[in-house]
Amino acid sequence: MSDPQISYGVLSNIIGHSNDSGWLAPRGVVLQILKYKRDEKNIRFLLHDGKNSAPGFCTEAPEGLDLSDLENVPNSLIRIQNYSVRPMKGKYYLLIRTSEYIGKGEFPSEAPTALPVASNSTEIFSFVNDQHKLTKKEDQTASNDSRHPQSHPQKKSNGIFTEISALTPFTTKWRICARVEYRSDIRTFRSKTSGNDGSLFNITLVDKSGEIRATGFNEIVETYYNMLEPGSVFVISGARINSANKKYSNLKHDYEITLDRNTTIEPADDFSESVPKMIADFTPLDKLADVESESVINVIGVAHNVYDATSQMSKTGKEYTKRDIILVDKSLFMVRVTLWSETATKFDESKQGHVVAIKGVRVSDFNGKSLSVLASGLVINDPEIDEAYNLQGWYQNGGLDSNFKWISNSGGDGKFETPEKYLTLQEATENRLGMSDTPDYFITMAVINRIIQREPYYPACTQPNCNKKVVQQTNEKWRCEKCDVEIEKPNYRYVLSVPANDYTDQIWISCFDETAQVFLGVSANELYDYYQSNDEAYKHVMEDYNHNEYIFKIKARKEFFNNVERVRYQVVNIHPADFITESRKLLDDIQQY
Ligand SMILES: [Zn+2]
Repeated sequence: MSDPQISYGVLSNIIGHSNDSGWLAPRGVVLQILKYKRDEKNIRFLLHDGKNSAPGFCTEAPEGLDLSDLENVPNSLIRIQNYSVRPMKGKYYLLIRTSEYIGKGEFPSEAPTALPVASNSTEIFSFVNDQHKLTKKEDQTASNDSRHPQSHPQKKSNGIFTEISALTPFTTKWRICARVEYRSDIRTFRSKTSGNDGSLFNITLVDKSGEIRATGFNEIVETYYNMLEPGSVFVISGARINSANKKYSNLKHDYEITLDRNTTIEPADDFSESVPKMIADFTPLDKLADVESESVINVIGVAHNVYDATSQMSKTGKEYTKRDIILVDKSLFMVRVTLWSETATKFDESKQGHVVAIKGVRVSDFNGKSLSVLASGLVINDPEIDEAYNLQGWYQNGGLDSNFKWISNSGGDGKFETPEKYLTLQEATENRLGMSDTPDYFITMAVINRIIQREPYYPACTQPNCNKKVVQQTNEKWRCEKCDVEIEKPNYRYVLSVPANDYTDQIWISCFDETAQVFLGVSANELYDYYQSNDEAYKHVMEDYNHNEYIFKIKARKEFFNNVERVRYQVVNIHPADFITESRKLLDDIQQY
């Protein structure tokens, strides 16, 4: 026997029909509390209807029930006005929004049966009561009938979530269940039209089908920013969908969401298992050689080496920050990734040796292959995905001691692989490299301490595959003898002779355009502009360029200078030294003695 007020057997009815299209949930259901538990987030009950039991979560305490008196709570009867049914770990529970205490009941003489485990679906989500929002008056007269005498409204989404990939401005009554993969900082701006200060933030939402960007302004920032924590899952509906502004985002979705006053966002962490942590198609590092230059891809790897962030001068004389990291993966390849501006400053140096996933990097053919993070790119440290756990495990269990190779282009140009052994400058000169009739190539690690030459560039022809020096004519145009053309504006290219030092010796090396750019950090055209108009910026480049160690691939070739035989050292390729790999190589060398 149970209390006569209880809506006997109603739970199996509610839960059994929760996903049926057009079914109307019974209202004013009376259930009894069997058990009560409370944590920071939820008020949890075990509720029964005299026949079955089911868990219930309350967002607010039932009206009139004093929850501080623990002894008093069990066997209380509550009438539930507004609720929905949600699946969790294979079971269903009631999410109770409004309810009231109506008195005490006798404990049931027989223990109610816990409701059977739900079917395999974890994606069913039915707002049972949304179809008939109750007023208090109606509620008092509502019967416990499972059918309410009212025509069945069309239920378009059938209780199943809309897939993110299916969202368009024409999708009506959509409701997505998505994880916040990324949340930006709050940015402030001044409106051009009103002159008022505003604020905004954006998030990337992800589900199994894809990802979409969402933006919130002003009061939405205040209401939702803190709640939309990265990694958490939410059910979102009622927002505007507009065309995506590809300038700010490199997501594939054609549309993006604008959160506004009509938007509903509800935490839904119980759906966590069915929503992926992140969606990304990662290109393994050993496949990079085949990726075309300028392609935008996603990569994941261990940050094998994190360099310091450095300030550089832009064309306009504005300072900006960049930071290089060396990424490695199980393919035993490594690649240099450049981070810019805020992404560079904010990158946590203690994340050296940790997994990092980067979405939105541009591939360049520079020195084999290198990567540059786009302004709209996402850098995610220690992402909580299987791939990351795998990589971290591999790296910590010996992976970090691997002999990593730089990636070379599949075409063979700009090939740069870590050789077994480097030569010191002394070894290169003592072995008379370059003194035979064919050129010799060697690899060495050295620093460039100073640049003596002024204006280390020349005006070059812009015709394809020419690069010959052009001469300015009286008509202000520039003439190339070889191509027999006149051009409006030359392309400045570096030609630079500098002393390179290691602890054994010094040699003079000549660098052409691509190689000089690596340590000067700006193009010859930029440096030419500085020389013309911005003395500070020019000095900054020539004196404060990167004095770190570089690995040089050098071509040594015999030449005659004033009838004297000597060796000319030309830099074929240059790469920042990866200190971890280098010191390990040194240790290996030492151990051989
Ligand atoms: Zn030419």
